[in-house]
Amino acid sequence: MKSTATAIPLEKLLEQLPETFSVADRELIQRAYRVAEEAHREQKRHSGEPYINHCIAVASILSDLKVPPEVIAAGLLHDTVEDTPITLADIRRDFGDTITALVDGVTKLTHLPRVSRGDQHAENGDNGVEEEPLIAPALLGRKEDIVAETLRKTFLAMGEDVRVMFIKLADRLHNMRTLSYMPEHKRKRIAQETLDIFAPVANRLGIWQIKWELEDLGFRYVNPEKYKEIAELLTEKRPDREAQLETIKENLVKLLEQNNIKAEISGRPKHIYSIYKKMQKKDKAFDMVRDVRAVRLIVPDVPSCYAALGVIHTTWRPLPGEFDDYIAAPKDNYYQSLHTAVSYDDKRPLEVQIRTHEMHLNAEYGIAAHWQYKEGTKHADKNYENLINSLRSKMEWGSDVHDAAEFVESMRSDVFQDRVYIFTPRGDIIDLPAGSTPIDFAYHVHTDIGHCCRGARVNGKLVPLYQELKTGDQVEVLTAKRGTPSRDWLNVNLGLVRTQRARSKIKVWFKKQEDEQNLAQGRDSLEKELQRLGLKDINFEKMARDLNYKTPEEMFIELGNGDLSVNKIIKQFSQHEEADEIFEVNPSASPATSTNAIEVVGLKGMLSSMARCCNPMPGDQVVGFITRGRGATIHRQDCPNILQTKDRERLLQVGWGHVERTYPVPIQIKAYDRQGLVSDISILLSDESINIADVKVNVNRSMADLRLIIEVKDLTQLSRILTRIESLPNVMEAHRTNPG
Ligand code: MN
Repeated sequence: MKSTATAIPLEKLLEQLPETFSVADRELIQRAYRVAEEAHREQKRHSGEPYINHCIAVASILSDLKVPPEVIAAGLLHDTVEDTPITLADIRRDFGDTITALVDGVTKLTHLPRVSRGDQHAENGDNGVEEEPLIAPALLGRKEDIVAETLRKTFLAMGEDVRVMFIKLADRLHNMRTLSYMPEHKRKRIAQETLDIFAPVANRLGIWQIKWELEDLGFRYVNPEKYKEIAELLTEKRPDREAQLETIKENLVKLLEQNNIKAEISGRPKHIYSIYKKMQKKDKAFDMVRDVRAVRLIVPDVPSCYAALGVIHTTWRPLPGEFDDYIAAPKDNYYQSLHTAVSYDDKRPLEVQIRTHEMHLNAEYGIAAHWQYKEGTKHADKNYENLINSLRSKMEWGSDVHDAAEFVESMRSDVFQDRVYIFTPRGDIIDLPAGSTPIDFAYHVHTDIGHCCRGARVNGKLVPLYQELKTGDQVEVLTAKRGTPSRDWLNVNLGLVRTQRARSKIKVWFKKQEDEQNLAQGRDSLEKELQRLGLKDINFEKMARDLNYKTPEEMFIELGNGDLSVNKIIKQFSQHEEADEIFEVNPSASPATSTNAIEVVGLKGMLSSMARCCNPMPGDQVVGFITRGRGATIHRQDCPNILQTKDRERLLQVGWGHVERTYPVPIQIKAYDRQGLVSDISILLSDESINIADVKVNVNRSMADLRLIIEVKDLTQLSRILTRIESLPNVMEAHRTNPG
């Protein structure tokens, strides 16, 4: 294992910085270096090198891209917050808001698509050298979808600042250059991710310099055999190829000079991954591809491009299908050039690219090329932002986008579908509809966090709960220990909750609260009734099932909210249960009813006789008269003796009975004694055609305690009569008692 224990000296980096950097710029970078060096001092890379070498390498790659000094400073500091005790607050204090935002952006990007990864934590890399997988294995569905989605989110996370992406790309590039030091099992995954995510990002940003190297390095680890094969063939043919290229270049220069076209000509390095892709795409063997010689012409202006093309096409025969005019129709990363291939003197293909200086700069550095860091003229932040926006507009997500504002708008609505991406304190991303508030966020993280949400910090500051969240916000929810949602949250006018998901969770909560209250009330009323009816050990499960409820709780809730009545339950219950069981009678015992056709209902068990004065017959309207000592006598209602009596207290309503199976049930009635109480009760019982088998009245002071044995057909009737008795004036309660 190669290893150098020494740190790359700062001077090397300083020498390499663009000449346009001022003394202040250089001081800023030195200061960033000192902070990073001290912070990482005890850490080593997998290669055994001091960790700071990675930071310098990243800064150096950034310097090659000619990015502004604050980006290079942020590149030096990019791993400090993640891997050392240094905090964002420290960086803000020492370096200000811009560098802080850049470092924060890179840190967040590291954790990017832990989206929906739930509670699964990624394993920690040593010293942060290891990068966490961008795609959670659990998420792996269709690979293309995931890649597209990750790209989308990556672009989003870079959010307002494309500079973050440059640092991330530089970081990845250096990690790829040193990938051989990583444990073997991790190499392939990191390399694949580089091909899937980072190379396309570099391509999208137009940074050819980084793109090709990421591709070649990625390919080398993903497909080592093929890489080696192509690399060896290239090496083998190299001296030959280079000699040929020299001749071709000389010939071209002469030819163009004759036509008054000034051109710089360079041989174009072939990249292994692009050869491989070409072999795949064109389904050609390496032999067909390797002999392709490629040159690049750089000319002063666009007319010269076409002039040079004309000269070349008239000198050599163009190969069909190889001409592309990316000047008239730039690629979607704003790449411009003319591409062609001709059959050269030796009848073998020659690839030619023709472009202006500006196009070349743009092709090599992409967006980075547009940082015109001019000597002595510091760009105002505003200008800088404008520049970024115009660059973005050129990045062209949609081909019909014309200005920056429109681009930003289309990015918001079309590409990102009106969503905002919010960071949790842990760095996970939560994807929410635009306009979401901290409460929406809280419910998205976890339902209980939503219920308990009482406040929120956004980017460290307390904010009102109606505040709309923006992409990139980091939100910390403040909760109450046993918090509950507020009715206000559902008030649309207050704008506290915007997402359907949160709304429905709040509604469910309130419904559940109501359900719980209803459940308690329902259970209570049923239990009271059962107690009154003297029923013990009731199987609620069965009772609920018989009424088509899945659980007793459901039955109680409906009882509590009034959708179900106690009566219905009792009725159902009495139909499903054996009456003998309910009324605790021995089935073999003789029925309590008599078959006597002149049985008079209302007086059963009382000594009674037919009155001689009017001789009532079954079918007559009759009335009972309570005598002194002889029980009751039955009179026709129109009997003169009855009509004339002043003792109306002693009249009992009676009627001719039907023959029916009834059950004797002892009941107790407690009441404040009053005139006519017994009579009222007997009228009720007579209404229901219930016989009274026994009556005991005990009056103590003003309290009446009546013990009756009544003969009921069923439980429903018992329940109904007890309720009716209880509703009589002065009656406090009426309930079934134990027999005997
Ligand atoms: Mn790093």
